Amino acid sequence: MNHRILVIDDNPAIHADIRKILGKQAHSSAFMEDAEAVLFGDAQTDDTAVLFEIDSAYQGQEGLEKIQQSLVAQNPYALAFVDVRMPPGWDGIETISRIWEVYPELQVVICTAYSDYSWEEMTRRVHKSDSVLILKKPFDNIEVLQMAHALTKKWFLTHEAKSQLTNLDRMVSLRTEELQQANQRLTLEISERSQAEDQLRLSEERFAKAFKSSPIPMCILSIEQQRYLDVNDSYIEMTGYSRGELLGRSALDLNLWPNVESRTEILRQLTAGRAIRNLESHIRTKIGHERTTLLSAELITLGIDAYALISEHDISQRLQLEAQLRQAQKMEAIGHLAAGVAHDFRNILTVILGHANLRLMSKGLDEKVTESLRQISEAAQRASNLTRQLLAFSRKQIIQLQAIDLNDLIAQLSSMLVRLIGEHITLDCRYDHDLPFTEADSCSIEQILMNLVVNARDAMPEGGRLTISTSLAVIDTDYVSKNSEATPGKYVCMTVVDTGCGMDDATMERLFEPFFTTKEVGKGTGMGLATVYGIVKQHNGWSEVTSQPGHGTTFKVYIPASDRKQPPAEKKNIVTRDFAGDETILIVEDEEPVRRFVSDLLQEYGYQVRIASSGLEALRVWREHSGDIDLLLTDVVMPESISGLQLAEKLLADKQSLKVIYTSGYSIELLDTHFQSRTRVNFLPKPYHPLKLAEAVRECLDT
Ligand code: ADP
Ligand code: MG
Repeated sequence: MNHRILVIDDNPAIHADIRKILGKQAHSSAFMEDAEAVLFGDAQTDDTAVLFEIDSAYQGQEGLEKIQQSLVAQNPYALAFVDVRMPPGWDGIETISRIWEVYPELQVVICTAYSDYSWEEMTRRVHKSDSVLILKKPFDNIEVLQMAHALTKKWFLTHEAKSQLTNLDRMVSLRTEELQQANQRLTLEISERSQAEDQLRLSEERFAKAFKSSPIPMCILSIEQQRYLDVNDSYIEMTGYSRGELLGRSALDLNLWPNVESRTEILRQLTAGRAIRNLESHIRTKIGHERTTLLSAELITLGIDAYALISEHDISQRLQLEAQLRQAQKMEAIGHLAAGVAHDFRNILTVILGHANLRLMSKGLDEKVTESLRQISEAAQRASNLTRQLLAFSRKQIIQLQAIDLNDLIAQLSSMLVRLIGEHITLDCRYDHDLPFTEADSCSIEQILMNLVVNARDAMPEGGRLTISTSLAVIDTDYVSKNSEATPGKYVCMTVVDTGCGMDDATMERLFEPFFTTKEVGKGTGMGLATVYGIVKQHNGWSEVTSQPGHGTTFKVYIPASDRKQPPAEKKNIVTRDFAGDETILIVEDEEPVRRFVSDLLQEYGYQVRIASSGLEALRVWREHSGDIDLLLTDVVMPESISGLQLAEKLLADKQSLKVIYTSGYSIELLDTHFQSRTRVNFLPKPYHPLKLAEAVRECLDT
């Protein structure tokens, strides 16, 4: 409660009166208690008897100052008794107006003896009728007391109500602020959520797109039952099953993972909740093909169920190409080795064979010596055949390419082949009659065919059917991507199919290696397919084999097709019985034993010989004897700077009528077509029979 009262009156007697009326002694009187009980009810007891605190001001200005001080001190008055006439200062009405300007809450009692103003005028002038009462002088004590009580109580209640209101206001604004903050949070959350939803949608879209269009086969599989929830197009393509056949079915039911080991591993990892990285695995396609894949799995949860996002990268083709490459590299290495051996052997055999045969031609030999020489000659011949095969395999054999009709070649050989395979095997030849020519060496192609046919015969001891067919094969890049040996273009394909015992994988892998044979000792040399391999390679072709144990074998040989439409003119066959002569021959040969043997031989036939061990030496000899030299017999590859070919060119420039025979038998650089076209007739491969040499010399001199 606020019981502070300010009395503003210029008359000190009034102050004294009011103090007397509102002072303590007046209070404790029984009369006052009754009066209070009447006013405020019984609750008011003696203990709470009101003690008014009364201040005095004797002029309006002073009153205002006191009011202001009390406000500053935060100890305001509840009520003021204000006199109307207070000369010389403001009158009561003005004082009240000014006070209310700074302190409108103050309750006021205007004390007046005269009716200076009417009630209406007063209230009009102070603008507030609800906080002012009028007390007529002289006072009635009770009235003063009642007014003091009522107005201080009113001040208090107004004050209370006001502070309650402010409290309420504060609470409302606090609550409003809280609500606003909550609202802001909510708005933020909503926008975050909708952003998150947008991102989720986008990321789902991205995932769906990546999943659908990935070139790598992918599926989503439930971990518990391995059932397909979704598969992408690549997966459908790889497995050969339709989407409908896969969705909802289990990978195990469909037997898509045929390999027990990798299947167990996949299931073990997935059920343990572990991701899988690049596990080599196998897929069985709908038509039963097995493909090798690199399997990776990522665990995902959809709803409450656990799934695996599986990708299976098909690496079958890569593995196949790698195997082909390894095979090609192996064959290349073996080829180098074989070529090295054959190269050295060839010269040695030329000497052995040459001398043995030379001696055999002498008259009056002891029979035992003759027999030995014949044995030597035959053995050397066999060895020589072997080196030729080795050279063929290592592609170091001289081949003479010309346009040939493969159909013709097979037809010409067929009667011989029938005899070769025996009566228990039926030969069936099927020709593609629109077959283009092929650019090939006919002897080599015959050799391929013979080797394939002999193998087929050996594979069918109980009889069967042998089919040889020809066809045109147009190879495109798609084909090349599956077979590293192939190159795009037009090819003539020769296919040899038998119904024999077939082969297992281990045999298939080593098939073309020289000396690889599964036949018993003495039956097979293991050189047949090695020769085929070398020849085919040398013709810029390749071969393909398919076979299964017990289900026969198919060999396909691809040789480039030729643009030519006509076979070249037949070579004229010159038969000369007598190989003797007296012309002068220049022999150029770097191997001393070969040189001596050739010179001995030709001298026995009556020829004059000049010898040189190199191209340079030959040029020196030529400078002295060019006039009488009729024929140059030269090795092609020789040490020192000048080759047989260059030597011949130089000498021919000097003497156009000079005849030339090249001899050799190897070296890849000889295979350039330039050389082949010039030496087609005058080429004598080593090692050679003495008769062959004599025949070649005579033939060349007579042409
Ligand atoms: P060889 O015939 O002397 O054994 P090849 O090089 O011709 O040597 O053949 C190597 C091996 O390839 C043979 O021993 C055989 O095991 C296998 N082979 C070749 N052709 C056939 C075929 N048509 N059918 C079954 N196996 C074959
Ligand atoms: Mg064979």
